[in-house]
Amino acid sequence: MERTEQIIGQTERYGATNYNPLPIVIVQAEGVWAEDAEGRRYLDMLSAYSAVNHGHRHKKIIKALLDQADRVTLTSRAFHHDRAGEWYEMLSQLTGKTTILPMNTGAEAVETALKAARRWAYQVKGVPDMQAEIIVCANNFHGRTLSITSFSTEPAYKFRFGPFTPGFVTVPFGDAEALRRAITPHTAAFLFEPIQGEAGVIIPPNGYLREAAAICREHQVLMMADEIQTGLGRTGQRFACDWENVVPDVYILGKALGGGVLPVSAVAADREVLGVFNAGSHGSTFGGNPLACAVSIAALQVLDEEKLEQRARIWGDYMLKRLKRIRSPRIRDIRGRGLLIGIELDEEARPYCHRLMELGVLCKETHANIIRIAPPLTIMKDEIDWALMRVESALTER
Ligand code: PLP
Repeated sequence: MERTEQIIGQTERYGATNYNPLPIVIVQAEGVWAEDAEGRRYLDMLSAYSAVNHGHRHKKIIKALLDQADRVTLTSRAFHHDRAGEWYEMLSQLTGKTTILPMNTGAEAVETALKAARRWAYQVKGVPDMQAEIIVCANNFHGRTLSITSFSTEPAYKFRFGPFTPGFVTVPFGDAEALRRAITPHTAAFLFEPIQGEAGVIIPPNGYLREAAAICREHQVLMMADEIQTGLGRTGQRFACDWENVVPDVYILGKALGGGVLPVSAVAADREVLGVFNAGSHGSTFGGNPLACAVSIAALQVLDEEKLEQRARIWGDYMLKRLKRIRSPRIRDIRGRGLLIGIELDEEARPYCHRLMELGVLCKETHANIIRIAPPLTIMKDEIDWALMRVESALTER
């Protein structure tokens, strides 16, 4: 029996079955390349859902991890440590916001933003207690906690998980007038993804973000951008909101903030919003730990030094153009921004992802019929060409 089969057997025997991974066991990875238990090499075109924007085991980030691991890794928030302030300052400069609240996973950062918005509504906007509403978009994906699941519109994410958290109102994504109509005097915030990743790389109509920003401003509603998947260079700008020169009130960041090494997330907003948290009202044992801060500082430096957002823009354009040249009756649409690309098929995408894996390219379907392509932003042209050849074969050979 191959080692791969043994490992998968053991994993499935003892693990819960809430995922359906492709049958590959990655035992090592570097840059854009991953290696399986049998020593076969694959080009990673998923980047752990955009968490590995810097490539696997980026030398500078790993060095920061090891150096910090030699000093202090965890203090909890009961005490100060010497890496948080430095990291907050960098994030504040990056986002233009005065205040940073650290968490670990994306979902935790979204929950944090939701809590902040509700308190802000009561304490600043003057919404009557327990009446705050938060507007979200259809087909959103913001994580898997119970409150976030409560406002998902995807039946599979919600099935038998009720009762759900109230206080959320859903509007269609990309429709600014629907947002305007949904606002009431009790509306605290509008939570959105500037490009819906999980829904299948859905790009809203041009001008949508700008209009939404104006509507939020007019009605004193917090505009909260979930840039967990789209931020930090992925779409060819620092944040996907930059495509419309929109500065939301709240940035929610995660994934690549941890440099592909650790779970690191954060909410960035001005003091007027995040200042609603007083001591004891919110927290996390691991949020903002020294190891996470050290890793994230290095990740932000690499983002800047290696001009990852520029690379994403240049190579994303190139890739999208080349992909659009592929002639296959199976392809319904190809869309993307930077290195976040979706190939929508008129049939199940899973067999194509399986075939791509056999050809040495790793990607994963999102929803039934969309292949998401999101390689590390460090990918080189010859590697893109190598992958494109295989994508074309997989899409045209059947
Ligand atoms: N928000 C967006 C836009 C995401 O894409 C994701 C994860 O895919 C999340 C939130 C949740 O992040 P996490 O899985 O780290 O909780």
